[in-house]
Amino acid sequence: MKALILENSRLYRQLLDNILGQQGFENDITNEIRIAKDFLQQNRYDIICLSETLKDGSGLALAEFCRLDPRLCKIPVLLFTSDKQIERKTGELEFAEIIFKHNLQQISDQITHFLETRLDPVFSEGKILFVEDSLSVAQLINTALSEAGFQVEHYDSADQAWAAFNEEVSYGSDKEAFDLILTDIHLEGEMCGSDLVRKVRQLQDARGFIPIIASTTQTDDQLRIRLYREGINDFLPKPVLLEELLLRVTNLITNKRLLDKVHDQRRELYSLATTDKLTGCHNRHSLTEFARKFIAQATRHHYPVSLMMLDLDHFKQINDTHGHAVGDIVLSEMGKLLNSSFRDGDMVARFGGEEFVVLLNHCDAKQVHIKAEKLRQQIEALNPNQLAISSSIGVTTLEPGMTFDFEALFHAADLGVYQAKEQGRNQVRFIKAGSE
Ligand code: GH3
Ligand code: MG
Ligand code: MG
Ligand code: MG
Repeated sequence: MKALILENSRLYRQLLDNILGQQGFENDITNEIRIAKDFLQQNRYDIICLSETLKDGSGLALAEFCRLDPRLCKIPVLLFTSDKQIERKTGELEFAEIIFKHNLQQISDQITHFLETRLDPVFSEGKILFVEDSLSVAQLINTALSEAGFQVEHYDSADQAWAAFNEEVSYGSDKEAFDLILTDIHLEGEMCGSDLVRKVRQLQDARGFIPIIASTTQTDDQLRIRLYREGINDFLPKPVLLEELLLRVTNLITNKRLLDKVHDQRRELYSLATTDKLTGCHNRHSLTEFARKFIAQATRHHYPVSLMMLDLDHFKQINDTHGHAVGDIVLSEMGKLLNSSFRDGDMVARFGGEEFVVLLNHCDAKQVHIKAEKLRQQIEALNPNQLAISSSIGVTTLEPGMTFDFEALFHAADLGVYQAKEQGRNQVRFIKAGSE
């Protein structure tokens, strides 16, 4: 959802940006009516937060501008003012709420309450994949959807539509994602509408959940039931009633966006729970969870895995000499280096303080030696904040046929670190698992 914030004071701008941001809004911010008008031309907003006093005039003038524009008049406007007598000036202007600028906490509560209770999220924007082989019907629907603010990509065959959908879904595509599919059922070409529905629903990832509306002149119960079974979310008999079409499209896209938001939040929570904030590496909890499966799989399928443990040398001195904040920069740079140095199937974790553990998949003793030595050199060359740093690295390998658990491998690598420290630091030591 999008918000337009018009506010002259930097403090309030920041406050509003934070509150709305936390509620999932993307904000455009200005203190000028002139710029706000440009924003309003180019975007669709779900809410406007308007201060009465702005750099180039009164917020009330902008409210009047919105009131007179049919495209803008339905956007709820929150008016922020310190004038207790404001209602004498507002005339015919209707504000969703007038918020008096006094206590920041109270303002924050008032806005949050408004957003949570009064603002029905309705998404009348989105990209629609539209399949229809009758050009006259296509034109009618295309116009109605476009005028309502949707972006429409029309195809007259399911084959072409599937190709377009596939291209968008394919890995690395930068095409904007479709939000809904609206498809005719009887179509010329190899595929009919229900083939398209089935193919989309067979996709394994989240894109397979895209809402689908089917539309056809044939309205018999059995066909409808079959289409629902195949995965459509809604059915529209032809001739299509445009107003009904727009409402159904808006409902489905709104539901999809809300569900996407839940998925995003879940992903974010998961990432917060498993990632170390300072370094971006996995945290210790995540490492121990993952390590068990990682090692069990290697043991079962007889391939080698290695474990690398790394401890920065004399890190305490960096903190003592340059301060804890500089120490944090060093750790964060280490995180970046480590995260970019290993393959996808490997796992990099911050075990604690300035100690890191890396699990290397399909990696034997010879390879882990080479990798650890290369990493040691990269750390020497890293120079975070212009500081020279070095590391002591212990490595060990679980060879096919061995049966050691994570604790045993960890113990071996830890001993490697200990020996590296003892022998002068800034070096790699390999310890054969079980030999300690
Ligand atoms: P050695 O070469 O023997 O490993 O010496 P060292 O100084 O690195 O060893 P030690 O384990 O005594 O010091 C680790 C230091 O790391 C102590 C602690 O204050 C610091 N540290 C732990 N976590 C953080 C952190 O998140 N940020 C910063 N800046 N320092 C941290
Ligand atoms: Mg047709
Ligand atoms: Mg340490
Ligand atoms: Mg250390």
